[in-house]
Amino acid sequence: MKLKFANFKMNMTPSELREYLKVILPEIKGLEKGVAFFAPCASLFVFKDFEGEFAIGAQNFYFEKKGAYTGEVSLRMLKELNVSLALVGHSERRQIFGESNEVIAKKVKSAIEESIQPVLCVGESLEERQAGVAFEVVKSQLRLALGDIQSLERLIVAYEPIWAIGSANPAKPEDAQQMHQIIKDSVKALYSQDIDIKVLYGGSVSAENAEEFLKMPDVDGLLVGGASLDPVKFAKIVKAEP
Ligand code: PEP
Repeated sequence: MKLKFANFKMNMTPSELREYLKVILPEIKGLEKGVAFFAPCASLFVFKDFEGEFAIGAQNFYFEKKGAYTGEVSLRMLKELNVSLALVGHSERRQIFGESNEVIAKKVKSAIEESIQPVLCVGESLEERQAGVAFEVVKSQLRLALGDIQSLERLIVAYEPIWAIGSANPAKPEDAQQMHQIIKDSVKALYSQDIDIKVLYGGSVSAENAEEFLKMPDVDGLLVGGASLDPVKFAKIVKAEP
């Protein structure tokens, strides 16, 4: 089963999410396993009124358990809303909100401690790809994000080249495949134990190109931004097979 994750970003008010779920859930009935919706925090409560085997994801959280952190959301709050997955290290958080590798490492560690599965996002910029250092950049992002984790049973990584996000210019499926293999090898090299590692591709995935990515043996699923906002388009992606 390949994973199909929807990242709504700062879209989908509670009432919009309700309408969206009313359309998409009947469409994907029986296929929801492996599907996750990463909704904005303020809309997460809406999922309580819907049933299905899909997972609920958070786009952000703070790594401390609780306290004087005005404006932040804790993992325990998210757990009460049935959240089981959380994005960490998305390039928009790194670039717009200045999230450092140190903060990302703390987030990965705290999510694992609270039994929320982190979806660690990595990816190079256009300049880095053109300079031929994409593999090194991604390997270093992985090393820094996982630096505080002594042992790991499973991990989900999303490979999202920054230049491919929201650009209508996706990576070539073969290039994604190559990077995914490198990601798996380098995570395994960091640990002695056997790790169940899934690597998703993200960056201008559409209903039209989803299948090409899913055909790649090390593309274990897709993280979809823009195209996930339309329930008809995202249902097509959920139905896409290798
Ligand atoms: C994303 O930002 O996680 C993403 C994959 O965006 P898009 O599909 O719009 O490129």
